[in-house]
Amino acid sequence: MKLDTICIQGGWKPLNGEPRQLPIYQSTTWRYATSEEMGKLFDLEAPGYFYTRLQNPTNDVVADKIRELEGGVGAVLTSSGQAANFYALFNIAQAGDHVLSAASIYGGTSNLFTVTMRKMGIEVELVDQSLPEEELAKRFRPNTKAVFGETLSNPGVRVLDIEKFARLAHAHGVPLIVDNTFPTPIHCRPFEWGADIVTHSTTKYMDGHACQTGGVVVDSGNFDWDAHAEKFPGLTTPDDSYHGIVYTKKFGKMGYTTKLVAQLMRDLGAQASPFSAFLLNLGLETLHLRMPRHCENALAVAKFLKSRPEVEWVNYPGLPDDKDHALAQKYMPDGTCGVLAFAVKGTREDAGRFIDRLRFVSIETHVADSRTCVLHPASHTHRQLSSEQLRAAGVPEGLIRLSCGIEAAEDIVADLEQAFGK
Ligand SMILES: *Cc1c(COP(=O)(O)O)cnc(C)c1O
Repeated sequence: MKLDTICIQGGWKPLNGEPRQLPIYQSTTWRYATSEEMGKLFDLEAPGYFYTRLQNPTNDVVADKIRELEGGVGAVLTSSGQAANFYALFNIAQAGDHVLSAASIYGGTSNLFTVTMRKMGIEVELVDQSLPEEELAKRFRPNTKAVFGETLSNPGVRVLDIEKFARLAHAHGVPLIVDNTFPTPIHCRPFEWGADIVTHSTTKYMDGHACQTGGVVVDSGNFDWDAHAEKFPGLTTPDDSYHGIVYTKKFGKMGYTTKLVAQLMRDLGAQASPFSAFLLNLGLETLHLRMPRHCENALAVAKFLKSRPEVEWVNYPGLPDDKDHALAQKYMPDGTCGVLAFAVKGTREDAGRFIDRLRFVSIETHVADSRTCVLHPASHTHRQLSSEQLRAAGVPEGLIRLSCGIEAAEDIVADLEQAFGK
């Protein structure tokens, strides 16, 4: 089926007499008739639900729709995008391990990787994604367990060369994990280019209406863990907390997903709420209609900004003269996303004054919503930094992140125009 049809028909498939809309299983627990049946669930000997911290049917149905959109074998919803990226890595890396990640990634992910995970003994090394392959190859170590990048980075909107990173990862016997939040599977399916695991902050376009925080981890089933068994003992040697089962042996291609649920959900519990999953599913039903409009609007706005004398530069891979345009054409020929970055000339106060004059385009700590929103890092997320520190962090004082919604492009342009006009 086409992606458009999966957005609507994927996931919930009601049987005769069942509700047309996905039911919300707002229950922590399930009832069983015999002790033996419950015991089998605890031994992973039979499929079934027993406690929502581990699994919930509403969540599983929505995860399955996303799995189908990405073309994977297994998927798990999480309570946030942060939890999804943490689980995706922590499922295969532990204290003493090393991970290579592109440096152009979301600030929250960068904190998670370089501050919190470091405290757990996992070293995530950030690398410039535009370095040549031979340079990047030198960064691998015997204890490297994964490579990570964002298809389109937040907020810089850089494009990841997925094939290059997949080749590097596989040459070193490790999987490539790609955060595909910004393009969504409507505009890029990283598994088709060699990625092994995909994550999302479903808080963004998948939801699209700013009503729930969530994440998802999707496994392609393509990475051969047993071929590199010594690197991934958590998947390929007995798990004492489940009577010594070996995930890859017992569950085959579902080994990675099963371990993530059986260990990480059981022990850490960043489970999505079933009501959030229901809201996410409503968002997914129109994802294929919204994404092209976000891109159309962002391109119109990017062209307008380029024409303004007050604007220093515009970053949008959909623009023909953008430095990542060729990569965008390769991986996302139908469009990228609605987020762009630009800088106004002048001081950080000038940039702040500019966004204060916007009318319906509102100042928000959010992106990838149906409403157009804007953030000025030097006034908000990075306000404690001096001008020199901002430059060192790669966040120029004038940088504004603009997330184009699905209103009429003329109205977004008109709002920006009146703000410049003053
Ligand atoms: C927002 C975001 C995240 C974090 O997701 P939350 O749902 O806010 O936890 C991770 N990656 C990218 C690319 C994001 O934009």
